[in-house]
Amino acid sequence: MAIAVMTHAPTQPREIHLHRLSRTTQAAFADLMDEADRAADHLDLATYAKRHRTAIKLIGIRPPASRELAQCSCQNCYCTAVFDADKAHCYMDGPVEFVQCETCADEHRLTGDE
Ligand SMILES: [Zn+2]
Ligand SMILES: [Zn+2]
Repeated sequence: MAIAVMTHAPTQPREIHLHRLSRTTQAAFADLMDEADRAADHLDLATYAKRHRTAIKLIGIRPPASRELAQCSCQNCYCTAVFDADKAHCYMDGPVEFVQCETCADEHRLTGDE
């Protein structure tokens, strides 16, 4: 897979909304996150970190301090934010874990008990 090399522009955003990216980039990003999750399931943290690094470069987000990305899966809106995993608000709805970005957690925080 060919990935464009990103230069470190000072304008890199802290948060990126996936729907603003091209379909190809969105698909490549989804694949990387799937691979990262699979690696985490096998406790392969080196691969996990590598996939996140690649994903960070792919979407052009400012590398988060945690070096991990989280994707908003808020059930209250159609947010597609990708952001620093440290800032994620996680909640359980039954057996499934969902993630809210900072904006969603501020504006309509969910706990799974609604
Ligand atoms: Zn959100
Ligand atoms: Zn939301």
